Amino acid sequence: MSTFPGFECSVCGALKRDVNHWWLVSIVDVTSAAGLSSDLMISQWQPDLAAHKGRRPACGSNCAQKLVERWLTSGTLDAPRGAAGNPVEAHK
Ligand SMILES: [Zn+2]
Repeated sequence: MSTFPGFECSVCGALKRDVNHWWLVSIVDVTSAAGLSSDLMISQWQPDLAAHKGRRPACGSNCAQKLVERWLTSGTLDAPRGAAGNPVEAHK
């Protein structure tokens, strides 16, 4: 059983393996007449896309839904402050 180094679920921390159904969740900036806003995009797993900063791996529909909930409630894909297993990234 092999793993894909560096890819782990951004919600539960599971490691990516050969066979499972992963998703990539990302925020896309959208410019409209009303100004800048953002869309949430959910993509099928592709390793080259997964390496892009800003795309969050999710190990299945449950974890993908958690990312959607984060975005709906906080506008980010980051875990709530202080959550275990999700080191806070430096944004500034
Ligand atoms: Zn997960």
